[in-house]
Amino acid sequence: MSAATHLLRLPPLPTIKDLIRLYKLRALRQLSQNFLLDERITDKIVRAAGSIRNHTVCEVGPGPGSITRSIIRKAPSKVIVVEKDPRFLPTLQLLEEACQEHLELKIELGDIRDYNFEEGLSGIAKSDWHDHCPPINLIGNLPFNVSTNLIIRWLKSVSERNSAWAFGRTPMTLTFQKEVAERIIAPVGHKQRCRLSVMCQFWCEADHKFTIPGRAFLPKPDVDVGVVTLIPLKDPLIKLPFKTVEKVVRHVFNMRQKFCWRGAECLFPKELRDELGPKLFHLADVNHKLRPFMLSNEEFARICYAYNALCEEQPELCNYDYRSPKNVVAAVEM
Ligand code: SAM
Repeated sequence: MSAATHLLRLPPLPTIKDLIRLYKLRALRQLSQNFLLDERITDKIVRAAGSIRNHTVCEVGPGPGSITRSIIRKAPSKVIVVEKDPRFLPTLQLLEEACQEHLELKIELGDIRDYNFEEGLSGIAKSDWHDHCPPINLIGNLPFNVSTNLIIRWLKSVSERNSAWAFGRTPMTLTFQKEVAERIIAPVGHKQRCRLSVMCQFWCEADHKFTIPGRAFLPKPDVDVGVVTLIPLKDPLIKLPFKTVEKVVRHVFNMRQKFCWRGAECLFPKELRDELGPKLFHLADVNHKLRPFMLSNEEFARICYAYNALCEEQPELCNYDYRSPKNVVAAVEM
């Protein structure tokens, strides 16, 4: 490999395959563990994050450490790895020793969903939101169920500029099931466009960088994997609380094959739907006969602002949830 590709040379280490065998690290189904053994692929994932030299990189779910090795070779100033499965401690400690002359590798055993970024990244100067991204990167090849759940939590933090985003527009490089990666970036009119597309695109520039075939993993998952970068937007396409936006987008997509007013009217109590449903679309200046996947983020934003204005007029609307047991019973009785 050229010096430009790898900036830091690690001392000779056993291969990841040997370590897996040596420590009997059988992949656990309940943690959806699938390991990457090919250095060219792990290097490519790290390259997708852009330059990380002298950055602090937080890797989620390092497992035996194949992506971690690729990260270290790119000479960041610090790497924090957050791993739930303690069986990987010896292999990560081996890496910690191997790179200690060059950088700090901090091993955090635990669930990424409980990790306190503001504490873990403390000491790093905060960047202005409108400035360049801060020298921090989040990188991870996580189980699909965790990465989808995590991205929603992280988008909320991006919108509130807390957690890893208290430091500025921290970029993310994450893997998803290929279909989920396609949903994240799906533009208006695309058959994959869904709640996740609209939510991601409100707050981030999302890019599906490349696809890793399932056969590259051990054990092989049933699906291919998409590597996605998400860079928080300087100017988000919406400036309303995450909870409000999530509620509106979720309702509109609830009936994705129907006209968008059908899902949206469920935002209101049954007795007000005939009045407030049309009013919502009139205020938003959006064609109520479009299917949800035909709506642009700008149109979704106008629907969210219109809903917010209606809630300001009638604050009890905010708490209305057609799925709450009380309302389901009322609807059945009507
Ligand atoms: N990064 C390694 C690779 O690419 O070969 C391992 C990837 S494997 C798909 C996912 C890793 O995430 C496993 O090591 C698993 O134990 C870990 N993991 C699963 N859920 C996690 C969670 N909630 N928090 C932190 N790590 C988690």
